[in-house]
Amino acid sequence: MELFDLVVLGAGPGGYVAAIRAAQLGLKTALVEKRESLGGTCLNIGCIPSKALLQSSEFFHAAAHGFAEHGIEVNAPALNLPVMMARKLRIVKELTDGIALLMKKNKVTVLRGHGELKGEGRVAVSHEGVETMVEGKTILLATGSEPVALPFAPFDGKHVVSSTEALSFESVPGRLLVIGGGAIGLELGSVWARLGSQVTVLELMDEIVPTADGQCAKMLARSLKQQGLALRTGTRVTAVEVMGDDVKVTVRDKKDKEEILVGDKLLVAVGRKAHSAGLGLEAVGVERDERGRVKVDAQFRTKVPGILAIGDLIAGPMLAHKASEEAVAAVEMLAGHTAKLDPNTIPSVVYTWPELAQVGLTEDEAKARGIEVKTGKSYFKANGRAKSLGMEDGLVKVVADAQTGRLLGVHIVGPNASELIAEGVTALACAMRVGDLGQTCHAHPTLSEVLKEAAEACDGRAIHG
Ligand code: FAD
Ligand code: NAD
Repeated sequence: MELFDLVVLGAGPGGYVAAIRAAQLGLKTALVEKRESLGGTCLNIGCIPSKALLQSSEFFHAAAHGFAEHGIEVNAPALNLPVMMARKLRIVKELTDGIALLMKKNKVTVLRGHGELKGEGRVAVSHEGVETMVEGKTILLATGSEPVALPFAPFDGKHVVSSTEALSFESVPGRLLVIGGGAIGLELGSVWARLGSQVTVLELMDEIVPTADGQCAKMLARSLKQQGLALRTGTRVTAVEVMGDDVKVTVRDKKDKEEILVGDKLLVAVGRKAHSAGLGLEAVGVERDERGRVKVDAQFRTKVPGILAIGDLIAGPMLAHKASEEAVAAVEMLAGHTAKLDPNTIPSVVYTWPELAQVGLTEDEAKARGIEVKTGKSYFKANGRAKSLGMEDGLVKVVADAQTGRLLGVHIVGPNASELIAEGVTALACAMRVGDLGQTCHAHPTLSEVLKEAAEACDGRAIHG
């Protein structure tokens, strides 16, 4: 039985990053992955294929609807979905192959197969009926998450589907029903709406993306509706029935009025759950919380000595960059270094058009903590660069402590929000005061000037507000 300093289970952005950092720190490392390719959910069936399709569908939509105002006349574009899907697969392959190369470069041993804890540092790796036992001084669990199914709507892979199938439809569904107005529902809903589907999103809460700043979420909802997505908030799905090629979805609104909607496909995107089944956790005594997530302390240690856990498998937002940051912090602490990860500085982005990005506290969250807040807003429609781009929808809102001026949160709905939020993250991580952010020079004309203006607006100093 081969002995490693560290055995990592799961090769997603948590696991593969942990393996590389461990190898850099001189630990003899093995990475166990049951999927054919490395990269986990994110690279294979998540972040990357969804962003590839979002870009392709955005071009398609722009060619059909956005060029004319620039004085560019083109015939109505024709969709070649197999080519679009092949491009997506090529991107995924290049990136997942790249991870395999990184493993070679860093001398990480990759073991294909399903890993299961067998106690006392041992992991059984099963692949095509063959079981290999490896031993690790430390074992890091990074087995990620899987889609949540609704009890009355089990996935059948054809009519009632998860994001995995919705990333690979072979034709554009005429009518796509989506349960869940969160990141997956809105991103994949946008992809198929741009390609011609009639998309209806059914969201239980009163707003889409309920975790976002309310005004930003409302503004995003308005833009998405203008693009043709039907958004039904405050809507409860009570039954789902597949009848021939149709999916019948029974919904009730807030007044308890019942209605039946019919679609060709139903995407269920109501969240994901920790992937902890079949890992042998109970046998070795690793504790889980009420949502099945592995319980860890601040150093990512479970109650069982020598077993750590990170990423979607533990509490916190299910985001690739969160998993990767935890990976580095966990391994560095294991190697005796000091490392810190402030959960308040983890950004989140929904890659719709416009994009929605946030970091830190919303105004409501800050108030709920008893903090007296001041806020500043600035709108993209007043920004020269946004006008030139023809992307005027959206705003930036900053939240700061009214007493100290310290920045508490940045909320953006608008063009390139996914990139703009990085400045907010840096400012928050450096504990900047909002006044200092506002008085930092920003190039003109850029979208980033909207963030500067919002920070200035906090102190009543906005020039264009
Ligand atoms: P995962 O990436 O899930 O990796 C876990 C790996 O462990 C998998 O490869 C799995 O096969 C393997 N595994 C599981 N059990 C075993 C076992 N017993 N033995 C061996 N291997 C095992 N996040 C973002 O930050 N940005 C985005 O834009 C984004 N877009 C997304 C889009 C979609 C459609 C989806 C579904 C998710 C998206 N996410 C996004 C979320 C992101 O994919 C996850 O947060 C991230 O992948 C979590 O990383 P992880 O390493 O914890 O787990
Ligand atoms: P989510 O938690 O982002 O959104 C789920 C939505 O479904 C919420 O708005 C919730 O109120 C709603 N909902 C829950 N139960 C419902 C019900 N019975 N009926 C109607 N609505 C219901 O989850 P998701 O969109 O499935 O994404 C899963 C995970 O993957 C998330 O944690 C997300 O962070 C991650 N992800 C991230 C990105 C990104 O970073 N851009 C993209 C995709 C997925």
